[in-house]
Amino acid sequence: MTNTHHNLLKNAELILKKNFGYPSFRKGQEKIIDSVLQRQDTIGIMPTGGGKSICYQIPALLLEGTTIVISPLISLMKDQVDTLRELGMPATFINSSIDYNEAVKRFQGTRQGKYKLLYIAPERLTAGQFSAQLASLPISLVAIDEAHCISQWGHDFRPSYLDIMPFLETLPNKPVVTAFTATATPEVTEDIIGLLHLQEPNVYITSFNRENLSFSVIRGENKRDFLLNFLQNHREQAGIIYAATRKEVDNLYEMLGKKGYAVGRYHAGLSDQERTGNQEKFLYDDLKIIVATNAFGMGIDKSNVRYVIHYNMPKNMEAYYQEAGRAGRDGEPGQCILLFAPQDIYIQRFFIEQSTLEPARKEREYQKLRSMIDYCYTPHCLRNYILHYFGEEMTRTCGKCGTCDDDCELQEITIEAQKILSCVIRMKERFGISLIADVLKGSQNKKVLKYGFDKLSTHGLLSNLKVKEITALINYLLAEQYLTLSGGQFPVVKLTRKAAPVLKSQEKVYRKVRKRKEAAAPDSHLFEQLRTLRKEISQRENIPPYVIFHDSTLREMAEVCPTDQVSMMAIKGMGETKFARYGHSFLEVIQKYLQETGGPQPAATAESSGSSPAKSPAAKRTPSHVTSYMMYQEGDTFEEIAQKRDLTLITVQNHIIRSGMEGYELDWDTLIPQEYEELILQKVKTLGTKKLRPIKDALPDQVSYLAIRAVIGKYREEIKKG
Ligand code: ADP
Ligand code: MG
Repeated sequence: MTNTHHNLLKNAELILKKNFGYPSFRKGQEKIIDSVLQRQDTIGIMPTGGGKSICYQIPALLLEGTTIVISPLISLMKDQVDTLRELGMPATFINSSIDYNEAVKRFQGTRQGKYKLLYIAPERLTAGQFSAQLASLPISLVAIDEAHCISQWGHDFRPSYLDIMPFLETLPNKPVVTAFTATATPEVTEDIIGLLHLQEPNVYITSFNRENLSFSVIRGENKRDFLLNFLQNHREQAGIIYAATRKEVDNLYEMLGKKGYAVGRYHAGLSDQERTGNQEKFLYDDLKIIVATNAFGMGIDKSNVRYVIHYNMPKNMEAYYQEAGRAGRDGEPGQCILLFAPQDIYIQRFFIEQSTLEPARKEREYQKLRSMIDYCYTPHCLRNYILHYFGEEMTRTCGKCGTCDDDCELQEITIEAQKILSCVIRMKERFGISLIADVLKGSQNKKVLKYGFDKLSTHGLLSNLKVKEITALINYLLAEQYLTLSGGQFPVVKLTRKAAPVLKSQEKVYRKVRKRKEAAAPDSHLFEQLRTLRKEISQRENIPPYVIFHDSTLREMAEVCPTDQVSMMAIKGMGETKFARYGHSFLEVIQKYLQETGGPQPAATAESSGSSPAKSPAAKRTPSHVTSYMMYQEGDTFEEIAQKRDLTLITVQNHIIRSGMEGYELDWDTLIPQEYEELILQKVKTLGTKKLRPIKDALPDQVSYLAIRAVIGKYREEIKKG
């Protein structure tokens, strides 16, 4: 590594900290940035939400000249550029929403070095006037986002991506080219390399594991009931519900709207205007829920999506993981729930059948569908299944997917199963689910009478249940493969081999019944106040709330309660530009809150301090600072805790100090350099503890904020007395 290169890397880290306010690179980011800075063509393959953008945004600031970012989604370009500007990074964009004069202005600005990043839609590359202007820019790096769009093997092929290569050839000096995607299949990678003529590119694939996401598959339950129950318990959270067809989207949208949810919809059958409008409202937190087909989501980097529910099984694992991956981009927990019913298989088969793909491709799509179906049936760890599919091996089970963390009760349903199975036999395995359910219910409807099924011995055998419940049982037996559906447009129910031992009472059938989950813990008052402030700023400046701060940043603020610049800057996501812009407004809210409530209210002591009952559910969660404290007591150093928990060092220190202040046992002396103890105490007493900065300034440089805080902690009783 050359010296200058070494410096560049150091600067990359500095930008991460200063502009983005993040303490460390995520896995893979550093390697990719390193490779780009060495002027190597580079491919970065990371899961959705893995953090690809930083991999070209940071080099863009460090390399001389301009970085062109090619990105497929016009509607999101403004957001991306706004986000960068908020971080103090000079960027602009050119797409069809910009007229030629404005574009020329932006080109000029770029040429003069006013912008380091120029986002551009691929369609612009071939527009005559534009391409000449483009070619005259001093381009050092071309970053191609969502690069799988170039491949017909990918799931989002865009012909305009094929224009990238000819464009690159018009450039007088060959720039470094770097491409990013979340699609990990070899065919797509080969296409990217081949179609972009990349020169011996470094290819980096990071782990596809997303620790903060939990996965579950719900089979054989009534989807609608599940959904309504789930939403009721997650009212305050933002989420995406994917459905397979436009019609299903419309139905769900209407149903949820009637129930009073702030819901929007998104599919290809709506006008551009309605789609963009709904997307925007969702980004701005004006809609909590969006119901959508798979047309929704590419490039959406709304960070606080807390759940992604698939109302139907998607077509393959690639699509599933990409869509589900839109949950929890901020690193906080996200739930990915797939509601499966055997009918979903038919919908997907139908889509493949209808497609104009060549036979070989169709066959491959069927294979992929098979893997998707297997995911829905697997009795093993779901995370392992996913990672295995993407070519990774995990040595242990994850402990928190629907299979691992199974708080279900087993309910024996052998008798019900026998009744259903024999009814299917009596009906000669020639009818669909709903008629079977009607017969078991004992219905006298026209169809039942027409076939004389009211005479069957199984007629009315389950009359004690609702039709809905019978249907759910049949679906469960289908999902567990005691029954199977076969035949085209009107699938009929047949028995499988697994059915015989049940009918002969040699084997029992059990069903898992989920215990009702508790509602998510409500957010604190302070968090709500910070969120309100963010919303005000968002409206004033016309940028989405998450572009200002992620929820996770606000949550950390609400927890740590920083009261000065130093502790505020230690919050993850608070860079210099952000602090300069918003730091003081947020500090004000926090200070006011502290004055009104007489100090931060640790959730753990909410009960003993007799605070409002609304807060007590939070007491069940270990507060973040206590977690750090426990790790510290277990012998981890501050650095180790920061690394393991992905927090900044100062936050961890704050956590420990705060725990000590709240009465957790802490050996203050290990944090205080003995030779300065007296001196610090003296300054603290004369200057007061409201602001730390003056104390720090009055002490020798080697005395850290940590030491000052520790002294305040150790002598707090004494200081209080004055
Ligand atoms: P994708 O890979 O899907 O394009 P993004 O680039 O949009 O993902 O990043 C996802 C989220 O992760 C963003 O909110 C981003 O700010 C955040 N992020 C990226 N890198 C880091 C990091 N090193 N530390 C903390 N958060 C990060
Ligand atoms: Mg991205």
